[in-house]
Amino acid sequence: MKLSVVIPIYNEQENLGELYRRLRAVCEGLEDVSWQVIYVNDGSQDDSLEIMGDQSREDPRFCIVDLSRNFGHQAAISAGLAHAGGDAVICMDGDLQDPPEVIPDMLGRWEEGDKIVRAERRSRKEGGIRRLGFEAFHRIFDWISDFPVPAHSGIFGLMDRQALEELNKFTEKNRFFPGLRSWVGFTQGVVYYDRQERAAGMPKQSLRRLLRYALDAIFSFSYKPLRIMTMAGVLISTAGFLLACIFVIKRLIGIEIAQTGFTTLVTLVLFLGGVQLIAIGLLGEYLARIYDEVKQRPLYIIKDMHGVSAGQPERNPEPPSSPNSDHAEDQA
Ligand code: UDP
Ligand code: MG
Repeated sequence: MKLSVVIPIYNEQENLGELYRRLRAVCEGLEDVSWQVIYVNDGSQDDSLEIMGDQSREDPRFCIVDLSRNFGHQAAISAGLAHAGGDAVICMDGDLQDPPEVIPDMLGRWEEGDKIVRAERRSRKEGGIRRLGFEAFHRIFDWISDFPVPAHSGIFGLMDRQALEELNKFTEKNRFFPGLRSWVGFTQGVVYYDRQERAAGMPKQSLRRLLRYALDAIFSFSYKPLRIMTMAGVLISTAGFLLACIFVIKRLIGIEIAQTGFTTLVTLVLFLGGVQLIAIGLLGEYLARIYDEVKQRPLYIIKDMHGVSAGQPERNPEPPSSPNSDHAEDQA
């Protein structure tokens, strides 16, 4: 069987050496598996591309899809998946938070018939605000999502060719990969692992990016925010109507209506103004995403490729015959 491992890389020069070593060690140990690693260089500004080039010259099973600029984690994964030729394809991060040593477990599940295997975090080593953010996101998403997406899984996981081909047809622009992977269906399995700390360097996804990603997840998997606003509207207008009825009845039966104070009025005006702005903002979130879809811009642009053929996935990654095969000429 053929295995492809897709790894998005953005400024990971400190981690690429160890990643290469550990991945090779794990993949060499797999029996009857021909494998390829697809690095997607997401516009790295450090020496990542040179290091990946060197690795790919040393072992042509390491291929590179080089994007024209930084398109973001999700776009980079999509680029890799579009060019993965394996019967099974594994996605993982390039910072060794997803340990390559879990790959044999995932293949085991695949061999037992699971078309999709997601790796679920048993534990997490990150701390501070990121961890709090992740926890909060999972809780909110769990509640708000219209489609059940298991929590505590990121991109780390395996997809069978059949499932992958379905996923590759999706043209959605604001992607939440773990959600889409669940949405595809088929028999889905799970393996557990301990999420490691980033091996070296700073996280490459800023908190702002992560927040945007969380919003993409929520807005692309839920209509609930809209429904909540409708409900809020219904509640507030019912309250207003009831209050008006009470005033009318009071006036009719001759009870003096107490002068409503200035404070109450100002509070109400501000409250209602706020609710209306939030509702417009929520509409805007959906509208902006619809606009993204309508524009039909590509998800990413490829500058260069090494070891993967343009247009169609490389179905037959060859094991290296000699360290400097014709592939090295490609690179030159
Ligand atoms: N990454 C990427 N493009 C980006 C940001 C990150 O390809 O714009 C890669 C990064 O090199 C790493 C993976 O995506 O391999 C996950 O990034 P990071 O560790 O920063 O994310 P986190 O672990 O905080 O989710
Ligand atoms: Mg990371």
